[in-house]
Amino acid sequence: QTQPTSASINPATGEVLAEFAKADDAQVAQAVDAADSAFTGWSKTPIAERAKVIARVAEIYKERLPELVETISQEMGKRAREAKGEVIISSLIMKYYAEHAERMLADEPVETFGTLPAVVQRRPLGALLGVMPWNFPLYQVVRFAAPNLMAGNTIVLKHADSCPRTATVIEEIFAEAGLPTGAYVKVFASHQQVDDIIADPRIHGVSLTGSEGAGASVAQSAGKHLKKVVLELGGSDPYLVLDSEDVAESVDTAYEIRMMNMGQACNGPKRMIVMSDIYDAFVEKLRERVLEYSAGDPLDKETTLAPLSSQQAANTFVDQIERAEADGATVLAGGGHIEGPGAYVEPTLLVDVKPGTVAYSEEIFGPAFVVFRVESDDAAVALANDTDFGLGATVFSTDVERARRVGDEINAGMVFVNNVEESREFLPFGGIKRSGFGRELGPWGIEEFLNKRLVRVK
Ligand code: NAP
Repeated sequence: QTQPTSASINPATGEVLAEFAKADDAQVAQAVDAADSAFTGWSKTPIAERAKVIARVAEIYKERLPELVETISQEMGKRAREAKGEVIISSLIMKYYAEHAERMLADEPVETFGTLPAVVQRRPLGALLGVMPWNFPLYQVVRFAAPNLMAGNTIVLKHADSCPRTATVIEEIFAEAGLPTGAYVKVFASHQQVDDIIADPRIHGVSLTGSEGAGASVAQSAGKHLKKVVLELGGSDPYLVLDSEDVAESVDTAYEIRMMNMGQACNGPKRMIVMSDIYDAFVEKLRERVLEYSAGDPLDKETTLAPLSSQQAANTFVDQIERAEADGATVLAGGGHIEGPGAYVEPTLLVDVKPGTVAYSEEIFGPAFVVFRVESDDAAVALANDTDFGLGATVFSTDVERARRVGDEINAGMVFVNNVEESREFLPFGGIKRSGFGRELGPWGIEEFLNKRLVRVK
């Protein structure tokens, strides 16, 4: 019997670029064993030494930038400049934790009201499991790995099945930077093997970025085995335009942000909520933008439309649009596949979307613009909050106080007023409701998998 493989398929061409054997159960056990065995040494390595390794990783990302850009782009289809942005932010995250973790992990005196003094120490837990997606195959891993390696934890990483080349180079760079063997181990594990890893008593926590289904499944196993879990799941972020002095500019901004990563971003503006008096102009201008694109090789600078991450992703996208239309939505532009071998779909504009329908409730992971008309700020807030998700939100108005007031009413983990959603190394990232729980990045990101140990000495 031949061993199953993970294939790296270029979604722009359908070509199989490489195949990697999936792990058998013995290799999965070895991965856990390696991460567990490495824990004692790594957690006792002085933090300044850990920082040198992590800072070196940040440097290597920059040194190997062209190769990383090509690997990520060929494996999941993103445009070269976006792949470059992903590598740069990953490098910044590594550098940030290398420079700041020591302060974040310092002992914290407790207010004891004149009784015996006490401190809280921040200590690592042990080996952790990360389960990561394909849409930002490097950055998602780094958000989890950088703070936890700095904290002294070790990591077993299960990547998306479609990104084995990126997975391989990530592991290789940790080794090149001098990370001890076992402190970071990738494993091409199946879903069943993920459950087995979670069940292993040597694993002390799990962090998953991905879909709700994956989150629920991993959280169920983690619950059964009483392991802490962090979930970064999907989103249907509202993007509110309350008024605008320059509708064309508002449309350009909204367009660029939604097209980021070809619409395959958890925090993309998936529902645009536009005030009635500018709605018609907004939609007309957006329709023009949506119709202008140049599909091509994601590594080519002239390309504005890259493929989705896989043929399956393209099929899912077109199916959602067809179901949305069957549900009564009006498709003003796009909606279909683009002829050819790659996983290209047309940018799509949907209006007349009713509550309870596909385009209202489901996360559409692709270049779909869903635009709603509202008559008041209260209606905008009600619509923005009428979702099972709660990741991020954006509010624009020429009156910043108005935008701030509206933003204050939105139930989400992140609210951006008069600026677009952005992930930075020093800002917390995460959601509420079905978008998950826990936070990554900033000082918050390092707090998730620590033993906050009370010590009181008489
Ligand atoms: P996905 O299918 O859920 O996969 C994510 C990871 O989970 C992959 O490694 C996948 O492995 C694994 N997985 C899936 N089902 C599993 C199960 N039952 N047991 C164990 N592991 C399982 O998600 P995706 O399609 O790659 O990513 C898109 C989703 O991620 C979107 O919903 C997006 O919004 C969300 N996302 C959220 C954030 C955030 O920070 N909130 C960031 C990026 C993406 P296989 O590849 O082997 O199936």
